[in-house]
Amino acid sequence: MPLPIVAIVGRPNVGKSAFVNRLAGQQDAIVYDQPGVTRDRTYRRAFWRDHEFNVVDTGGLVFEDNTEFLPLIRQQALLAISQSQAVIFMVDGQDGLTAADEQIADWLRQQNIPILVAVNKCESPDLGLSQAAEFWELGIGEPFPISGIHGNGTGELLDILVQHLPAPETVTEAEDEIKIAIIGRPNVGKSSLLNAFLGEQRSIVSPIAGTTRDAIDTQVIRGDRKYRLIDTAGIRRKRSVNYGPEFFGINRAFKAINRSDVVLMVIDALEGVTDQDQKLAHRAVEEGRGCIIVVNKWDAVEDKDSYTIYEYTEKVRSQLYFLDYAPLIFVSALTGQRVAKILDQVDIAAEQHVRRVTTSVINEIIEDAVAWHSPPTSRQGKQGRIYYGTQVSSQPPTIVLFVNDPKRFNDNYRRYIERQFRESLGFTGTPLRLIWRGKN
Ligand code: GDP
Ligand code: GDP
Repeated sequence: MPLPIVAIVGRPNVGKSAFVNRLAGQQDAIVYDQPGVTRDRTYRRAFWRDHEFNVVDTGGLVFEDNTEFLPLIRQQALLAISQSQAVIFMVDGQDGLTAADEQIADWLRQQNIPILVAVNKCESPDLGLSQAAEFWELGIGEPFPISGIHGNGTGELLDILVQHLPAPETVTEAEDEIKIAIIGRPNVGKSSLLNAFLGEQRSIVSPIAGTTRDAIDTQVIRGDRKYRLIDTAGIRRKRSVNYGPEFFGINRAFKAINRSDVVLMVIDALEGVTDQDQKLAHRAVEEGRGCIIVVNKWDAVEDKDSYTIYEYTEKVRSQLYFLDYAPLIFVSALTGQRVAKILDQVDIAAEQHVRRVTTSVINEIIEDAVAWHSPPTSRQGKQGRIYYGTQVSSQPPTIVLFVNDPKRFNDNYRRYIERQFRESLGFTGTPLRLIWRGKN
């Protein structure tokens, strides 16, 4: 299980970012004084006792508004909450209970998640308890008086918080493991590749149970990295026994893709890309997985000269045009040629898959892209406008573009914007999702 997430929710200026800074033990996050300033949903690593978790400041929540971007902030907050194990709802003990707090409480109650009410700015030991008592009225349970800046009461709050998080031993183990699905038609060389990985000198191998009864995964350790090769039992299974040589366990492959971070799409250099390969590759894209195209049996290609790789690349690229984000690598499982390079590419793809880019960088790219090439104008003279973009999630990286009207942006322009993101940010090996969203 990955690290649990705790979302900090509250109206602007109650002290959310100051509190996150205390938890994360760093003072480098920006604190805005202006209410309602949109900020990045940044995840920060925090520790309490033997628990490790991520905290995310959801930004200042405001309900009564006519400002364009506030619905988006709420959407982001909702997204953050949907991924979280608990919410800390922060209010301001010096301001007392406000209508905005009640609106947030009403909204939070509809989310099915444990909520702790933190009454911030209660540094005075005498006043603290009475300041906090007022917030019983929210009907969410015991209000905890704290001071994010001075630290009063935060220990008690965190003691309760960690009771809502999964036990630490269920968490840390799998976190840094990269899950790899080796996918391809029968005979392309999947089990040979698997053996080549396992044969690598530095790797340590151990079989572990997968999700279904007969799906055995294998863990490989290389340097300080851990990889889990998904459903190695499925890869090894000899197809001729029950099904005949053409049996192509597509559902098994789909399940492996579903459980993976990165897919190794294995192609036979002698046979080239087939319909079945395309089907599998499509699934990897649809599921938003990182991907590397591995052209195997390169040793068996005869009469190679300096153009051969180039010609092959062109051909595979055109047949798998929808996998344009995936790096292409030519290997031989038989001789071991370039096999070690596959895991290097996996490392890159896995990093990019979880990567987060700040809102300011995204908006710089949009501004630049629009300056080079303005959005299309309709026959009525109405032009598309991109107001603002922000990354709302990762795995794969997903960017929401907030525009006046999504219909004004044709496919050509959308592809152009996506290209600009890729050119500026790379995202090698991972899909990139753009969501075009109109007002309201
Ligand atoms: P956010 O908008 O909820 O993230 O709030 P900030 O963290 O930016 O804090 C808003 C203001 O409240 C800043 O001026 C902080 O210095 C102040 N503040 C934050 N925490 C405390 C606290 O524990 N006690 C007091 N007295 N002020 C605080
Ligand atoms: P799987 O069905 O995808 O697991 O494929 P296998 O690993 O069982 O390989 C099928 C056949 O291709 C076997 O005869 C392998 O020896 C052969 N093969 C696998 N990789 C290579 C390679 O890199 N070069 C050559 N020449 N043959 C290979």
